[in-house]
Amino acid sequence: MPAQKTHAIVIRAFPLRETHKIITFYTPDFGKIKAVAYGVKSPKSKLSGRLELLNHGMLLFTYRENRDLQSLTGFDLIEGFDGIRADFARITYGCYFAELVDAIALEGDANPEIFELLRNTYQFLVDTDDVPLLARVFEIKFLDFAGYAPQLSQCAHCGSVPTPGPAKTSQVTPTSPLVMRFSVQHGGLLCAKCQHRDTSAFTITPGSCELLKTLRKSEFNKLNRMRASKRNHIEMKLMLSSFIQYHTERSLKSLKFIESVLEI
Ligand SMILES: [Zn+2]
Repeated sequence: MPAQKTHAIVIRAFPLRETHKIITFYTPDFGKIKAVAYGVKSPKSKLSGRLELLNHGMLLFTYRENRDLQSLTGFDLIEGFDGIRADFARITYGCYFAELVDAIALEGDANPEIFELLRNTYQFLVDTDDVPLLARVFEIKFLDFAGYAPQLSQCAHCGSVPTPGPAKTSQVTPTSPLVMRFSVQHGGLLCAKCQHRDTSAFTITPGSCELLKTLRKSEFNKLNRMRASKRNHIEMKLMLSSFIQYHTERSLKSLKFIESVLEI
C-alpha cells in the first residue's frame, strides 16, 4: 500500500484502551482521516505529546481506500498554537472549530480550502481582539467551502432582491428597526412575498446581514479593524448556529459549552 505524506491538523482525539488513541485529522489532500495511534499515551512513544488537539503537523500514513481506520506511521509537529492553549476562551473556541469540521466534513473528500481556513483561523485565534467575531468569520467561510453557503443577497425561494420591512411584533414603533427574514430551512433570506413560506424565519437587521456579507469575503488580517455591535453579535450568532445545527443534525458540545460558560 502506498505511503502518504500530507499536512494535517488534529481535530479529534479519542482514548482507546489504556495506551492508545483514535485520532481524527483534517488534511488538504484526503479530507478527514482517522487512524489509531498505538501506545501514544506511553511516555516512551515517539508520538507522545505530538498528537494533541489542534496541533498542525506533517502526517505520514499508509492509505487504504474505503478503510475506516488508516495506519499511522508518523506525525512531525509544525505548529502547536501554544498561544491558543494559554487562554481558556481561545482554546474553547479552537475546540469548537475542530468539532464543527469533524461534524460536517467527509472522510476521503479533499477540500484544501477548508484546511487553509482552519489553519488560518488558528493562527489568528492566538491574538485576535474579538474572538466571537473570528468565530462568525470561520462559520460563514466554512459553510461556503463545505457547500452550504447561506443566501444573503437574494431571496432563497424566488431569487428576487429582498428589502427590509417592519418587524412583526406588537411593540413596533416608528423607531423600530426594519428587518430582513432569514429561513434556515430555505437556506437564506426570504423576500416579502415569500415570507409566508417559513413562519419561524429569524429576523435580522440589514446591518448584521451586510456585516456577515463583508465577513464572508474578508481577509483575516483586516479583522482587527472591524467592529460589531452587541446586536450584530447576537443576530449573527443566532442565525449561524441555527443554520449549522440544521445541517449537522446534532448539537455541538463545544458550542453549548461556549454558550453556557463564555457568553453570558
Ligand atoms: Zn421571494
